[in-house]
This record gives sequence, structure tokens and C-alpha cells, in this order.
Amino acid sequence: MNFDFTEHEEAFRKEVRHWLEANLPEDLRGRAFASSRAGLDEVRKLRAWQQTMHAAGYVGMDWPREFGGRGASIVEMVILYQEMARAESPQLVNRGGVSMLGPTLMRHGTPAQQRRFLPRILTAEELWCQGFSEPNAGSDLANLQTRAVREADGFLVNGQKVWTSMAHVADWCFLLVRTDPAAPRHKGITFLLVDMKTPGITVRPLRQLTGEAEFNEVFFDNVRVPAENMVANLNEGWSVAITTLAYERDLLTFIRHISLRNALHRLVKLAQSRGRGADPVIRQKIAELWIGEQALALNGYRSLTRILKGGQPGPEGSTSKLFWSRLDQELAQVATEVIGPYSQVAHGSPWAPEASGIRAGTSEILRNILAERVLGLPKD
Ligand SMILES: Cc1cc2nc3c(=O)[nH]c(=O)nc-3n(C[C@H](O)[C@H](O)[C@H](O)COP(=O)(O)OP(=O)(O)OC[C@H]3O[C@@H](n4cnc5c(N)ncnc54)[C@H](O)[C@@H]3O)c2cc1C
Repeated sequence: MNFDFTEHEEAFRKEVRHWLEANLPEDLRGRAFASSRAGLDEVRKLRAWQQTMHAAGYVGMDWPREFGGRGASIVEMVILYQEMARAESPQLVNRGGVSMLGPTLMRHGTPAQQRRFLPRILTAEELWCQGFSEPNAGSDLANLQTRAVREADGFLVNGQKVWTSMAHVADWCFLLVRTDPAAPRHKGITFLLVDMKTPGITVRPLRQLTGEAEFNEVFFDNVRVPAENMVANLNEGWSVAITTLAYERDLLTFIRHISLRNALHRLVKLAQSRGRGADPVIRQKIAELWIGEQALALNGYRSLTRILKGGQPGPEGSTSKLFWSRLDQELAQVATEVIGPYSQVAHGSPWAPEASGIRAGTSEILRNILAERVLGLPKD
């Protein structure tokens, strides 16, 4: 494992650190999870923050220059995320667009799609949501049933998506639909780009036990999607989706770290403000979380070293997601202990338990991947 940063990289770290100190708005500091739960007013602020970051050259930094990035190395990206975590910056409001759809379009999109969509992803002018999961298609995504019928000049879409983060504020959705029900499951799926203002789309927020509506159900009732909004070929959307999901699991590992470290800082402050800072049991638990966070960071460096030596991020990347999910849930548990019964009534509290063990692959599915593809155990 290599812990050394070059002089150039250290200079970059200094530059970003100073820039964040000077530019991060005070009311956004520490809003680690802000974007997926945001209302319209907060989204406006978060869009403005992404625009400011973009104008300074810090959004999509790793995108090639031809697509509006600056071709930064993965190490510089990691430094950027580390410094965002240090400054307690929120994640990018359009992170699904920047980290998932953008790279997918660069690989599978037409030049016209790249020209049309990529610049507005970077500036957060158009926010994106991910329409993959359905009531009977989550871990088993290939079971999706939302139907799109080919028409003369496009598609007619009918069906339902669920758990769609950001759909209540998104301008566009990248959507998986079934276009050939007779074909084997993975072969009849198509990847579409859908304008959320199209007639026939209904977004219904899902209110959670915490009172918050972080994600939504999205209903499609005779929704017309133009043919030019299909990514790659008809019935070949599965391989496009695999690209998107690989970016969700691999690149988001580093982004996730931002939210975890932010939450840990807030937990320490919370324990102090509630007079629990000297409680030996709470101190011990926070120390364990801190050690876990450091282990996660080191594991990140291990993957990074591997990638820099020419390897690809492999299935063992699942260990980071799995471990992060556990830490994130334990952190919420400790926070609940610190605030005691208030955890039940604190509407809008940032300490409400997180669904970290589910999104981007449940813990059981990640354990299957590790067992089968890393340890070589028999298939389940
Ligand atoms: C915070 C959050 C945000 C999300 N945002 C989005 C979004 O923006 N867009 C989107 O499309 N989706 C989103 N999702 C959905 C997410 O991808 C799915 O919830 C996830 O894939 C699990 O699917 P499911 O909920 O249908 O559960 P299921 O797949 O039905 O799983 C139920 C349980 O069965 C277990 N299980 C299933 N199959 C196996 C197996 N083969 N072996 C062992 N155990 C198994 C699972 O681990 C789980 O415990 C989000 C989810 C969360 C929690």
C-alpha cells in the first residue's frame, strides 16, 4: 500500500482546502445527507453550491476534457473528496448525474446525447434520479416489469418504480424498461432518458417512520419517450445498467466516506453538547467508530493502490460498502443512545437511522459477491 502523495498532489490538496474554506456557505456545512432529503428551497442552495464548485473546476474533475472535465487522476479525486469531508461540505446535489449517468453516457451514449446532457449535469441545471428498482425488482433487478412499447417515433412507457431518491426534485430520470417480454430476462431491457415533466408521470413521496420523505414511488401512465432518448441499442440496456451500477458501487465508496466522517464529527459534537463527552461507555463506542472509519480509509487506499498499479476495482470493493453500511448503522445507534428518548421525537433530526445496508446492493447480496467471486465458495 502506498501512502505517499506527490508534491503536485499535496499542492492540489492545499489549493482545494483553501478554496473550500473561503467558499463553502456556512448554512450548508455539515449537511452530509442534504440532497436526497432536500425540499425545493434547499435544493436551490445545493444547486447553487454545485454551480460554484463547477465554476472553480471541481465538478466532474475526472471527466475527460472533451466532456467538460479536466482529466484529473483518481488520486486527485480522492483528495477532493477528503477535503470536502474535512470541510464538512455536502455531497454534490447531482451526484447520480455526475458519478453514475455521466460516465455511462460517455461510454454508451451517442455524441448528440453527450452534447445535450453532459454539460447540464455538471452545472446541476438538470438534476437526475435513478429509475431502476421496482416493487418486485430490487436485488433481483433483471425481474423489472415496467413496460415500454416501441412506437413510430419513440416509446410508450407504463409501470412503476420505487425507492427513487430525488425523484421529487429531479428534472430527468435514467430509466430501465422492459421492451421484449418474450426474451430471456437480461436480454429484453432498454435504458431510457426520461424528462420528469412528461405528461403521465406521477411522483408520490414515501414517508418514512422518521417523518421524512427521502425517496419516492414513480408511476408511468402512457408516458411518451422520444426515440433519441434511448441509450445504446434496443434490448441492450442491461449492459448499460451494469456500467451505471459499477460506478455507483466503486466511485461512491469515496463519496460515502464524506458522509460518514461528517456524521462522526457531528456525533462527537452532539455527545459533548449533551454532556455525554465524559461518559466512558459512549467514549469507548465513539473510539470504536473512529477506528472503523480509519480502517475504511485504509481499505480505500488499498483499492486505490491497486487501481494505480493498473488493476481494475474488483469485487473485493464490496468489503468497503459492507463495512461502511455496518459503521453507518452503528453510528446512528450510538447517536440514538446519546440523545436518548429524543431520538423518537426529533423530526428532521440528522440522527434518524439510515438505510445504508440496502441501497447500492444489500449486505446479503454483497456477502454473496464476496463469497462467490472473491473466496470462490459455491454459488447460493
Ligand atoms: C436509501 C435508499 C436509496 C435508494 N435509492 C434508489 C434510487 O434512487 N433508485 C433506485 O432504482 N433504487 C433505489 N433504492 C433501492 C435499492 O436499490 C433496493 O432497495 C435494493 O436493491 C434492495 O432491493 P429491495 O428493496 O427490493 O429488497 P429485496 O431485493 O426484496 O431484498 C429483501 C431482503 O432479501 C435479501 N435477499 C434478496 N435476494 C437475496 C439473495 N439472492 N441472497 C440472500 N439474500 C437475499 C436482501 O438482502 C434483503 O435483506 C434505494 C434504496 C435505499 C435504501
